[in-house]
Amino acid sequence: MDAPADKTASKETSVTIMEFSPTGTPIGLRTVARISDDPSWKSRLSPQAYSVTRRHATDPPFGISGYDSKDQGIYRCICCGTILFSSGDKFDSGTGWPSFTSPMARENVATREDLSYGMRRIEVLCARCDAHMGHLFPDGPAPTGLRYCINMSALEFLPLPGEGVRKENK
Ligand SMILES: [Zn+2]
Repeated sequence: MDAPADKTASKETSVTIMEFSPTGTPIGLRTVARISDDPSWKSRLSPQAYSVTRRHATDPPFGISGYDSKDQGIYRCICCGTILFSSGDKFDSGTGWPSFTSPMARENVATREDLSYGMRRIEVLCARCDAHMGHLFPDGPAPTGLRYCINMSALEFLPLPGEGVRKENK
């Protein structure tokens, strides 16, 4: 079974995630301590990023700079830095939120059922720190048919080395 809903956010004290090089090459699995709370989040994160990642808020669609970026690079959790998504899996969903067909590594995201607001949705979280990322929908394009609908505020974008200038003209 390839559905991503089988990896549930857990209360384990450690988690195994995939490490990546700065250019997005998988290095290998590594077991790291889970992060359940970090006093720096409140002071370091923007109020919007804090509300989204730690209080399950949602970015206004089309409202956060970078949601439609086509720059080449990788996206990591703004709370703990875990590498989550790649520009190579990003597509224009027209929703106003950055959308991906898959995470860079299944180990690095967690999912769980979200029954809030009278809907049955699958919540996407950072596997290491439980940061709320967004939701997963089964209406994405090939090759996965999945749409990871992610809040831009929950992500930090790292441009691929040397890609910053060349891609300016989109
Ligand atoms: Zn995280």
